[in-house]
Amino acid sequence: MTAAPPSRLAQSRTTDEPWLFLSPHLDDAVLSCGSLIASEAGRRDIEVLTIFTECSPTPHTRAARSFLRQCSVQDAGSLFEERKKEDAAVLEGLGVRFRHLGATDALFRRRRKTIPGSSVLGRTLPELVHRYPTYRFDIALGRVSRGDTGLIEELRDTVAEEIDEQATGLVFCPVGIGRHVDHLITRSVGESSAERTVFYSDFPYNQNQQPDDAFLRSRHLTGWEWSGDLEAKHRRVRQYATQADALFPDGRIPPVPETYYS
Ligand SMILES: [Zn+2]
Repeated sequence: MTAAPPSRLAQSRTTDEPWLFLSPHLDDAVLSCGSLIASEAGRRDIEVLTIFTECSPTPHTRAARSFLRQCSVQDAGSLFEERKKEDAAVLEGLGVRFRHLGATDALFRRRRKTIPGSSVLGRTLPELVHRYPTYRFDIALGRVSRGDTGLIEELRDTVAEEIDEQATGLVFCPVGIGRHVDHLITRSVGESSAERTVFYSDFPYNQNQQPDDAFLRSRHLTGWEWSGDLEAKHRRVRQYATQADALFPDGRIPPVPETYYS
């Protein structure tokens, strides 16, 4: 960790070049970067692209049903509509542009090709037709399915077009703490912007897990901490009302700085 920001980030902060934040889900960019976004929003064009913003119809896997229970809702469709509204309200409040890219969240993502006979069985055993059947042994294990390769390519093209159009200076993406597959996919999409890429530490997952040391070393990444107005940030985090209780079960948001690697 250094006191001064790593050089690419420091250099960009002296310019007014546009910044692009890649957010896996409808809250991650604000959870991890809300304070830096707030402090830079008046100085440059900022856009937040959120990738996994959709669910799928029933039947859901046990993992998806457990997530819906944690959010105290039954219907995934209305939950995701509500989450998009929360995200729009927070980002509009911050004065930044945003787009919801509409990929399906890992908890609800189905296989494109199905095993013969599985569509009938999938009604009684939804795990058979989902790309990541369980949370613990699939989604949280950090092994991105080969079936997601096409999706990753499409996302890379979308982000490359955006960078071209906007003349983006920096692209922020998660460093992947917690190893959730959607966060790792977003990291891999962000990483393809090469020298523009800045990685952010995934909050609150960084409160009980560490970044992958081998990843940091192989990319020669140095960390930098940013503490802005944490009270303002926490107010924004609480605006994600469908998520706040599940993310912070004891009602307290840890007052920690944001960490960036470049
Ligand atoms: Zn996330």
